[in-house]
Amino acid sequence: MNILQMPSPNHFDGRDGQTPRFIICHGTAGFTTAQQTAQYFADPDSQVSSNYVIGKDGTIVQCVADEDGSWANGILEAGHDPWWSESINPNYQTISIEHLKFATDNSDVLTSEQQTASFALIDMLCTKWNIPRQLATAQGGITGHYSISPQSRARCPGPYPWDALISYLQGGSTMSIPTGWHDNGHTLTAPNGVPVVAGFRDYVLAHNWDANNWPLQAEQGRTPLELSNPSLGGGTAQDFRYTTLEWTSSKGVFVAWTGVELQALRAALVTATTTSTTPDNSTIITALNIASTTITTLTTDLTAANTAIQQSLTALK
Ligand SMILES: [Zn+2]
Repeated sequence: MNILQMPSPNHFDGRDGQTPRFIICHGTAGFTTAQQTAQYFADPDSQVSSNYVIGKDGTIVQCVADEDGSWANGILEAGHDPWWSESINPNYQTISIEHLKFATDNSDVLTSEQQTASFALIDMLCTKWNIPRQLATAQGGITGHYSISPQSRARCPGPYPWDALISYLQGGSTMSIPTGWHDNGHTLTAPNGVPVVAGFRDYVLAHNWDANNWPLQAEQGRTPLELSNPSLGGGTAQDFRYTTLEWTSSKGVFVAWTGVELQALRAALVTATTTSTTPDNSTIITALNIASTTITTLTTDLTAANTAIQQSLTALK
């Protein structure tokens, strides 16, 4: 895992005897890149920091060492989860991860790259600090800033794929590379050489994938994503021999209803074939009627010409 280091002076040296038991996910509610956010944290005047920041492009920047407490979580607010103690600064018990979000209300969903980086970082931290691979309880785990400050930080981090995170963390032991495929930590490559990356890679690794279910081409953008369900809008898709994985910004990664889409595509093909290449009977009947009328006219003209010739012959005799 590639982690940029941009140290911030805004931190507690050490953890006052505590060790990290929780990972707190945040949203930046602004900024444009992880590096820009880290520069803000590096400014002593900002008086804030985070152990990590993850950009939209999946860049991970570390601003405060894991061994030190960041200045990310304020004082406890009414309605906080019951395991936080008034007598312990929550920054001593937590590792904070900021996720770059453009919207000031943190309404952005994570990009595929950001989700991949976030899951991998949390996985690494759970192993390193023996943090339970679960949504937070009194025993520890992962949660959002809202757990500590439910009044002022109800929208921090905003949308985050909690269910996918936990299944990723708990599936870690059963994550499997299909037989004959290769994985280098960020690109999964099938025997036919086609790559599977980011969220689609995570899905394949986490779902005991059939080794014969090769990708037919790299992930590609499609608008609309599905002919059979235009309401999905645009997204990305990767066709495999037996199925199709799809991604939209609102749904994340999911398995397409391949059969439904196939039927819609067949129906569209039949429509296109009958309307554009094969004339129907009424068109043929119209054409034959025009030909018949032309023959009738020609026959009348030939009869008239023959009559004129006969009259000429009679006059010459
Ligand atoms: Zn926050």
